[in-house]
Amino acid sequence: MIYLEAQLTRLRSKATNLTLAHLCSLVFNQEVLRPILLHKFWMHWVCHCHVSNMIRGWSTYLKDLEKYGTPNAVQEWQKLLDGILPMSAAAMALPPLSIRGDFGVLSTAAARYAPSLLKSFVQMGPQGALGATKLLRPFSEVMDSLELKDPFIRNWVDLLSFLLAGVKTNGILSAEMVYMFAEWYQPGSCLEYPLHGTGAVVDALVQGMKKFGGRLSLGSHVEKIVIENDRASGVKLRSGQFVRAKKAVISNASMWDTLKLLPKEVVPKSYLDRVNTTPQCESFMHLHLGFDAEGIREDLGIHHIVVNDWERGVDADQNVVLISIPSVLSPDLAPPGKHVLHAYLPGTEPFGLWEGLDRRSTEYKNLKAERSEVMWRAVERAIGAGFSRDKCEVKLVGTPLTHQRFLRRNRGTYGPAIEAGKNSFPGHSTPIPQLYCCGDSTFPGIGVPAVAASGAIVANSLVSVSQHSQLLDAIGI
Ligand SMILES: Cc1cc2nc3c(=O)[nH]c(=O)nc-3n(C[C@H](O)[C@H](O)[C@H](O)COP(=O)(O)OP(=O)(O)OC[C@H]3O[C@@H](n4cnc5c(N)ncnc54)[C@H](O)[C@@H]3O)c2cc1C
Repeated sequence: MIYLEAQLTRLRSKATNLTLAHLCSLVFNQEVLRPILLHKFWMHWVCHCHVSNMIRGWSTYLKDLEKYGTPNAVQEWQKLLDGILPMSAAAMALPPLSIRGDFGVLSTAAARYAPSLLKSFVQMGPQGALGATKLLRPFSEVMDSLELKDPFIRNWVDLLSFLLAGVKTNGILSAEMVYMFAEWYQPGSCLEYPLHGTGAVVDALVQGMKKFGGRLSLGSHVEKIVIENDRASGVKLRSGQFVRAKKAVISNASMWDTLKLLPKEVVPKSYLDRVNTTPQCESFMHLHLGFDAEGIREDLGIHHIVVNDWERGVDADQNVVLISIPSVLSPDLAPPGKHVLHAYLPGTEPFGLWEGLDRRSTEYKNLKAERSEVMWRAVERAIGAGFSRDKCEVKLVGTPLTHQRFLRRNRGTYGPAIEAGKNSFPGHSTPIPQLYCCGDSTFPGIGVPAVAASGAIVANSLVSVSQHSQLLDAIGI
């Protein structure tokens, strides 16, 4: 399940350095691409005040900062950009699709991109090159070194980091943040949204897979990963069918969910301990609504973020609510004259509060009403007059138990809570030969772009260096 609906996912129609864009250019033919043409849109940010999108235009954003931030905010924002944008050449010089998990990387990445990397370092100058050494350290260290103290800026960047990777700036790799900022501030940069909803992207990927002879078994539950002669040889489905792997079994289920699929006796203790001691991000609360568009303001934005109290921190529970109203851009996602809305608490709802509750019990229902109230209030605040919760025709509340069940994620977690500088995301091979993992439990981490990169790294590692090079040629990078 991929969620592309929040504001941080970037999927661009032109080939850039982004893995998803590269995949698009490779697998989608024009007919497939057309239905998912990406719509350029601007976000709305609703905090304790209404802040417009920082990407809408440099000068507009600065005016908003002046208005809603502290007097220092504009100066510090500029200082931040001056400090990090010179580092971006290094962060962007190596396309994620060139990476593979063996020595072939020397050919597909190191040799192929050495000239552009070298050029980037020369362009960066001594200061930028020095900064580039910080790319693998937490982003808070970069902010500290720039002496950024303005509470609005620190909170704001914490929020961006938390939404990107599930950790604040003290836990995110600087490379990720620098990459994101560099993209935003490229000339002509904009955010894009898949028309007709995220399902169109998935449908297009399925068609792309089929076009290249891939076979997909959707809606098939894997009961276990089969090990023969100490190697992963295939998967057994709930239907009883055995699917033999020609080259390898690759799991993108979380590390905790993958572990459950393996026979206990084949899992080395060190691997078991690592999985069991990896900290988890918390879970989600969801509110899905359907309501009449009549009376709702015309300039309703597609995305809103409500932060109730900056002082509590952006990772505090019941504090940040994200709202997405995709029918604003794709009216066909709702019946004529209606809107669909998804509000959620992003990885901040403690699973422990819900653990063991019977979903039919009064206790569960009461807790649902109590813990969803914050999302209702945020929706009322974001949409304003014209919205009435009583008039909503669809009202569905999801809890961490719902998230665990439908997204099939252990304890409904957002992913591993691995902080840069303290620990690193696991690689893609496992102690079991022919079993690989990708997805948000592996390097580079949580979020659709990172997950797509992890899948590409594993796929690259399973083909020859020449096939991999052919792919890079075909994409034109
Ligand atoms: C509400 C929400 C909003 C988000 N917004 C963004 C965003 O705007 N931008 C962004 O970049 N990221 C966003 N994310 C994060 C992003 O969606 C995830 O990091 C990413 O989807 C993780 O991908 P994955 O493939 O690792 O895991 P998953 O998406 O969880 O995929 C694992 C799949 O494995 C399946 N599975 C599990 N067990 C089995 C089994 N036994 N047999 C068969 N199948 C099985 C599951 O059903 C699931 O489909 C958001 C996440 C959420 C929950």
